[in-house]
Formats: sequence, C-alpha cells, structure tokens
Amino acid sequence: MKTSLCSFCLKSGILCSKCSEKVKSGEITDSDLKVARVLLSLEESYPSLQNINFYKSVDSGKTLAIIVGRGDVPRLLGYGGKIVKALEEKTGKIIRILEYGVDDRKFLEDLFAPLSIVTINTIWLPDGSMETRVILRRRGGRPPPFDVKALKEIARKVRNMTLRVEFQE
Ligand SMILES: [Zn+2]
Repeated sequence: MKTSLCSFCLKSGILCSKCSEKVKSGEITDSDLKVARVLLSLEESYPSLQNINFYKSVDSGKTLAIIVGRGDVPRLLGYGGKIVKALEEKTGKIIRILEYGVDDRKFLEDLFAPLSIVTINTIWLPDGSMETRVILRRRGGRPPPFDVKALKEIARKVRNMTLRVEFQE
C-alpha cells in the first residue's frame, strides 16, 4: 500500500521526524495512521492491497470513509467483502470506500452504494449558496443501509458539498 507515510514508520509504529511533522501539521490524522496500519496488517492475507494508494480517512459518527486511488475500490471490495469486514472489526466503524479524484457523480455513487442514484441536480438557494440534490432509488420503503446524516457530513468534509438526500420508490 502506498501512503504519504514511510513504510518504516507504518511497520514500526514509531514515527520518524518527517512523518511526525506530517501528523503535527494535520496532513495526517490519528485516524489516517490507524487505517494505514490496519491496511498494512491485512496485506499478507489480501495481496491486492499491496498496490493500493491510501489518501486519507474521513469520519462522521460511526461511519469512516477511506479514500483510495483511482481504480482501487474493487481491490478493497473484493475477497467477498472480507477486507471491509476486517477494517470494520479493527476500527469499530462502518466503512465506506471512496475514490480519490473522481467526478461528483462517481463520488456520490460510491458514497451511497448499494443504492442507485435516480437523479443528481443542483439547487441554488436564495442566499446564493448551492446544494446538491441526490435522489436515491429505494425499494419497498426499506430504511437506507447507511447513516444518511453521516454520509452528508462526509461529503461536506471530502468535497465541500452540501447534500440534500431524497428517496424515490
Ligand atoms: Zn516516517
């Protein structure tokens, strides 16, 4: 796995001066450190993790979003979801895997998976601010399989996006 931390620090858990500077400046958070170490510990069992880029983690409540490189999402979702399950066990959070540098639509598709998106549109409010309205397909009136409030906060933290989430049968 590639991160902005050096592999020595990740493996030892003791930070060199360069890496501890990154933690001090806030470029790397404690949560990022923890996720990176968990991913590293899983590499042996799941070799596809060796090739992923880990950018950062963003949390809200019990949900933790892990942002990885372009094309890395399938590498984390493979193995029948075992990697995500292991991450959830070790972090105690519900994991969402998101891709770095994608367009808004792809970002929202990953954020709200497995529900599919009916429509995305932009709403301008009278005060000049903007909201992104996302309508998700829901079947049988079932509650969504994720915490909508947490995902909205993650969208704000990651993309500076204000979401309005609605459902359609
Ligand atoms: Zn280091």
